[in-house]
Amino acid sequence: MARYSPSIQDLINRLGALPGIGAKSATRVALHILNMPEEDAKGLSDSIINARKNTFRCSVCQNLTDSDPCPICSDPSRDKTTVCVVESPRDILTMERIHEYKGLYHVLHGVYDPAGGKAIADITLNQLIERLTLHPEINEVIMATNPTIEGNATALYVSRLLSNSGIKITRLASGLPLGSELEFSNDYTLTSAFKGRVDITS
Ligand SMILES: [Zn+2]
Repeated sequence: MARYSPSIQDLINRLGALPGIGAKSATRVALHILNMPEEDAKGLSDSIINARKNTFRCSVCQNLTDSDPCPICSDPSRDKTTVCVVESPRDILTMERIHEYKGLYHVLHGVYDPAGGKAIADITLNQLIERLTLHPEINEVIMATNPTIEGNATALYVSRLLSNSGIKITRLASGLPLGSELEFSNDYTLTSAFKGRVDITS
């Protein structure tokens, strides 16, 4: 028997399905929302709908944006010869945090992980290849996928794919513990990993 009425239980279930929110937190957040003034609860709901409606993938780098090209792709001060390839939009925020990188990005929206059901077509690798073909000024691709087995395999796959392109492929690796995520690395470790990036051009 459910402890809460169906509408409250539905809210708890939906919140609990979000990443990083367990059953206890979902219940706490749901009860907090129900105690909010009605206009605040409506503001929260409108904000979710608006963000969802107004956000799409940048046609150049595939980052989530509400303008196309996104602010980074359209910033004239960014170095157009370097593309840093990351798994998720969150990783762009992480890379920007260390103020070391001034080039452009490409968001894969995942990694190549056939065992986990992620095929090449599920990530934006074809868009990356097309972009590199259209923009011969790009001379370095920095593979900043997470230092996990899948992230490393994706970096290796890309380096093989681009082996005859003449583009230098580098990998953020040194100092980042295997299995970790960029997002949770400290600024010092990430800065050293960026500065000490290794050439993996095959
Ligand atoms: Zn962009």
